[in-house]
Amino acid sequence: MGLRDFVAAMPKVELHVHLEGSIRPATLLTLARRNGVSLPAGDLEGLRAFYRFADFDHFIRVYMLISSCLKTPADFGLVAYEFGADMARQNIRYAEVTFSPHTHVAYTGLPFDEILAGLNDGRARAKEDFGIDFAWVLDIVRDDPETSYPVAVWAANSRDEGVVALGLGGTERGHPPQGFADAFALAREAGLHSVPHAGEVAGPESVWSALRALGAERIGHGVRCVEDPALVAYLAERQIPLEVCPTSNLCLGVYPSYAQHPFRALWDRGLHLTANSDDPPMFNTDLVGEYMALSEHMDFDAPALERLSLNALRASFLSRSRKQEMADTFRNEFRDLRNQVLA
Ligand SMILES: [Zn+2]
Repeated sequence: MGLRDFVAAMPKVELHVHLEGSIRPATLLTLARRNGVSLPAGDLEGLRAFYRFADFDHFIRVYMLISSCLKTPADFGLVAYEFGADMARQNIRYAEVTFSPHTHVAYTGLPFDEILAGLNDGRARAKEDFGIDFAWVLDIVRDDPETSYPVAVWAANSRDEGVVALGLGGTERGHPPQGFADAFALAREAGLHSVPHAGEVAGPESVWSALRALGAERIGHGVRCVEDPALVAYLAERQIPLEVCPTSNLCLGVYPSYAQHPFRALWDRGLHLTANSDDPPMFNTDLVGEYMALSEHMDFDAPALERLSLNALRASFLSRSRKQEMADTFRNEFRDLRNQVLA
């Protein structure tokens, strides 16, 4: 028994993971076949090649093709259910899961409510069968700014149906956060949280703009803050959480290697970091893999990985009482696991 067993068994929380980017490869092939979508890959090996990305734009094109394989409310339910099963396999107790609704309304012609009902059916079944829980972050795709308002309205009207936040994804370069201020203002007024992607493909100015124009409470990625010492100091002082996805950053060319990734440097500066898998099968990873990469390449030991898990819990949008209760459980389990697995 070693650290991998410990990491696999420790209770975890994940905050930056996309539902469409988490579809199991075998399920994607089945959906494509059933729904008459032509993929450039017909088997798992072909999909691995399909998931090798030249750059961010290429990644977005693949992502859109994957998204087009979902056609019916039952399809959405299936991928949500399997997402919950994959959480349970990794002992992820709670997740906040990003979903880009406008893409699917456009692709399927279904009303948003039917898509959300499908998703929530899968979510409820997963909760029941696996004892895990997750909530939704509805995401604006910044490439289509005109869709930002409808997505914000859908999110604002779905607070009782598991939606906790409004997100902003897609092509960061050329679509700065300030263009989405109205949509985020609407969502925040309705009581939703603000979790835009920023500082991944674009630099520190994008993070500043996400904080100032969108009232960002957490930053998706945010790693390129490292290029601006004033921003690093600001994020550290206010303990604004970053949802860092190291392997995703390598696969999309943000950094050439784990050795050159700023995770460790930002951690040592006292930032509130969380580790996340982003689009796990597309990057041949999962949350356990991300924790192991931090251990192998950045010297994270068991106590540091425990802190990382608690950081994610603390940065989540669960109620204060639920966080407290879960943190107590997590600490007890960490102690027992350390004795059983690492002793
Ligand atoms: Zn993302």
